[in-house]
Amino acid sequence: MALRNIVTQGDPALAKKCREVTEFNDRIRQLIDDLGDTLLESGGVGLAAPQVGVLRRVIVVLETNVGEDEDEILYELVNPEIIEQSGEQSGPEGCLSVPGVYGIVTRPEYVKVRAYDRDGEPFEVEAHGLTARCFCHEIDHLDGHLFTEKAERILDPEELAEDGEE
Ligand code: ZN
Repeated sequence: MALRNIVTQGDPALAKKCREVTEFNDRIRQLIDDLGDTLLESGGVGLAAPQVGVLRRVIVVLETNVGEDEDEILYELVNPEIIEQSGEQSGPEGCLSVPGVYGIVTRPEYVKVRAYDRDGEPFEVEAHGLTARCFCHEIDHLDGHLFTEKAERILDPEELAEDGEE
């Protein structure tokens, strides 16, 4: 288990377009492992490579919409791409790289994402609700975008206490 340091807003890594992964080697697999460990430790639901200062197109997303007796699923996606989306949801969103800030962001309710696994095998994954929101948020990171750019408004602390956090 290896934890990496999560960089925060203002770090240049968060504003850059990340490069595609072309070689599926041990270095990439180590990065994926570390992203997973760091995400689980942080208590968040998604993490992108640039958030640990690595400018490659890799994200991990936790699927929390599972049955009571089931374990959460940790998706590992290399070179992810949204190939279908539908619906709309508007709700509070936060980011491990923008601690303590939450804003209302509109995202698709459903997305289908195409990506590669750690061995370079292509696959597709579908997501609804919070997980769909998370895929969009993390893929935005790969293009150097933070949710604060898309937020219709930033919540003030009192609203936050009422809404809880996502
Ligand atoms: Zn984020």
